[in-house]
Amino acid sequence: MRTEQPQVIHLKDYKAPEYLIDETHLTFELFEDHTLVHAQLIMRRNPVHGGGLPALVLDGQQLELVRAALDDEPLQAGDYQIDAGSLTVQPRAAQFTLDTTVKIHPETNTALEGLYKSGKMFCTQCEAEGFRKITYYLDRPDVMSIFTTTVIAEQHRYPVLLSNGNPVGSGPAEDGRHWATWEDPFMKPAYLFALVAGDLWCVEDTFTRQSGRDVTLRIYVEPENIDKCDHAMVSLKKSMRWDEEVYGREYDLDIFMIVAVNDFNMGAMENKGLNIFNSSCVLARAETATDAAHQRVEAVVAHEYFHNWSGNRVTCRDWFQLSLKEGFTVFRDAEFSADMNSRTVKRIEDVAYLRTHQFAEDAGPMAHPVRPDSFIEISNFYTLTVYEKGSEVVRMVRTLLGAEGFRQGSDLYFERHDGQAVTTDDFIKAMEDANGVDLTQFKRWYSQAGTPRLEVSDAYDEAARTYSLTFRQSCPPTPDKAEKLPFVIPVELGLLDAQGNDLPLQLAGESSAVGSTRVLSVTEAEQTFVFQGIEARPLPSLLRGFSAPVKLSFPYDRDQLMFLMQHDSDGFNRWEAGQQLAVQVLQELIGQHQLGQALQLDPRLLKALDTVLGDTSLDAAMVAEMLSLPGEGYLTEISQVADVDAIHAAREFARRQIAEHLFEPLWTRYQANRAVSRNTAYVASAEHFARRSLQNIALSYLMLSVKPQVLEATLEQFEQCDNMTERLTALAVLVNSPFEAERAKALESFAEHFKDNPLVMDQWFSVQAASTLPGGLARVKALMQHPAFTLKNPNKVRAVVGAFAGQNLVNFHAADGSGYRFLADLVIELNALNPQIASRQLAPLTRWRKYDAARQALMKGELERILAAGELSSDVYEVVSKSLA
Ligand SMILES: [Zn+2]
Repeated sequence: MRTEQPQVIHLKDYKAPEYLIDETHLTFELFEDHTLVHAQLIMRRNPVHGGGLPALVLDGQQLELVRAALDDEPLQAGDYQIDAGSLTVQPRAAQFTLDTTVKIHPETNTALEGLYKSGKMFCTQCEAEGFRKITYYLDRPDVMSIFTTTVIAEQHRYPVLLSNGNPVGSGPAEDGRHWATWEDPFMKPAYLFALVAGDLWCVEDTFTRQSGRDVTLRIYVEPENIDKCDHAMVSLKKSMRWDEEVYGREYDLDIFMIVAVNDFNMGAMENKGLNIFNSSCVLARAETATDAAHQRVEAVVAHEYFHNWSGNRVTCRDWFQLSLKEGFTVFRDAEFSADMNSRTVKRIEDVAYLRTHQFAEDAGPMAHPVRPDSFIEISNFYTLTVYEKGSEVVRMVRTLLGAEGFRQGSDLYFERHDGQAVTTDDFIKAMEDANGVDLTQFKRWYSQAGTPRLEVSDAYDEAARTYSLTFRQSCPPTPDKAEKLPFVIPVELGLLDAQGNDLPLQLAGESSAVGSTRVLSVTEAEQTFVFQGIEARPLPSLLRGFSAPVKLSFPYDRDQLMFLMQHDSDGFNRWEAGQQLAVQVLQELIGQHQLGQALQLDPRLLKALDTVLGDTSLDAAMVAEMLSLPGEGYLTEISQVADVDAIHAAREFARRQIAEHLFEPLWTRYQANRAVSRNTAYVASAEHFARRSLQNIALSYLMLSVKPQVLEATLEQFEQCDNMTERLTALAVLVNSPFEAERAKALESFAEHFKDNPLVMDQWFSVQAASTLPGGLARVKALMQHPAFTLKNPNKVRAVVGAFAGQNLVNFHAADGSGYRFLADLVIELNALNPQIASRQLAPLTRWRKYDAARQALMKGELERILAAGELSSDVYEVVSKSLA
């Protein structure tokens, strides 16, 4: 809870720590009604500062100090000061030892930050500033220390006792208790500390490093989940091999552990040697996890593992540098997933997500640069901008330097900064030094918020046989800055001739053509590139692979987009052309709806999709992506004023038209793929993910026809399939269908069958909360009364509240404001339980500027009501107050 006026912390005020902690020795005594934490800190004055011994100010919150001693001399009441956030002590020498004992209450910790209980087990989450809720410490990432941790607990309840590093001893203690000691030889900041105690089972495997030594791998879960760890283990071994091959990075400890926890605020946490995961990101087997869940497990296991180098061995100097580890590691995991699955499909998914969600954040009141300048609560900055846009920035560095130059840069970065806490500037400096380039202007991507716009126009000179492209870049004002300087925008492009072939590209001044797809660096506000030797006016394919996170516009007509959809040699841009075509067609329908006209779908969209469906040479996953219309969230993001009802009506109308006119090809492809599913046991591999994604999107269209044979096929798939992907799709299709009796029966049998599996029940909640049928809010309120629902579990909150406010736009934005009122009530309730989750649920309300005047007033009214609700956490206070500013 916020007890004082909220304080804004600025990057420009950064100062190196006054003291350092060379060694940290911790002993935890875990009990059912409290925990005692003994900390011995071997400290010294930081040599970067001059002489003198300033007061030592340690961070600490919600701690009850039992005892403190300086160099073995107990401190008396007058020897120190304590306030809500710190303990202040006066050192008497440049080197000293500080001992403290504090009492804490993990058993009542619902914020899930620091040490807490998830079910029957103890676990921790320290990033960013949770360690200060465990003991008094210099809780900042640039204070790195060697940790030794002893855990003492009741043997029977907590047979497994874990912490970071390597195990060095264990044994029995008095009163049926036992102890274990762990030693981590690598210096690390406190945010990477972890402790787990519980009745856990594990699967074990070994990985042989390139250099020959073996590492023990363990995944710990509660006993009932022991059969759901194989996919995570396979993913871990693939990640370890990939990081050796692609980045030359080996694992460093003798053991690597993952623990699955049900109550967790985030996806997972990369604590050194002891990763703690939300169970949704570890557990996966065919019967209970979808293909998407399997892919998520693979990606998150990789992401956290990759942090061992990009985050742990080289860490952040301060929290403004969060993207140093997150942007880079998201880029690394995206490339890993691209190598394991379809590269183009992975890129499409990431870009669709970025454009819908990160672009909205970048245009809203919480917009901030990839490296923010200030914050009130750091937990609010684990954002799409820091993660996803941060990853795009690293991707652009690689695009500009090439794969080899980028690898040289990353080698230099790891070598130069191993064991250090550094900044995004240090990362870029390593890239510059390894390649002999100057990236000064490029670094504006780290310091300027907002999504740049790139308007492109062209001209063909028949006499000179030249073709020129003119780029104009601009960036709208954001809360941090009104005026923006030009970015460095790498634009990968090709030029297509009338047959759809890529032309050789020769820029003015070049003696010969250099390839048929190349990267232009747009660095000025307006810049023209002239290609020579062009025999006839070409069609440009711009921003291939989405080479920069910008909003590009070029005046394509619909026939040109259809041509690109069929002929572009860049798979991503084939999809992109289809999306642009669909956006144009949907915007026309939205306009018709607003004018009260009968809706008329441009038949060219049907023709284009028919061609896609008939193209058996296309990867099935690509067909599925190309059949997916832009989402309502994306259509909202690109609207000046989003008309929720018109967007929903237009998109649903288009989907029905597709179902009606393309029924035959959809039915053919559905049946062919379902037949394969019926005759093959489930396999979690890219080829089968692709096939099922096409099968399932086809089914969701087909059901719109309301034909009896489709209902029959859906029920057959629901009842007879051997995996969650097909079962959940069939359930979702029924939930959104008019077949009430079948829907109710399917929901009931599903819940009965999976009632003991919380992750599957999350899916059951989510498909209902996201259903756009009328009466959405009433359904959500009923779901919250279900015995499996609890506000104390973040996954449940996300499955019901997140799915409703984030995906069910037509119900959430009901004109009477009932959706807004519901969300505000919930945020007020969650604020007291779990501030981080409360703050994250707020995002949809912060976007009020996107809507009509009546909705704006209702949304602002609810934000004001939250602000007036009294004792707000700094998390919620920051988001609400910035949204209203
Ligand atoms: Zn991360």
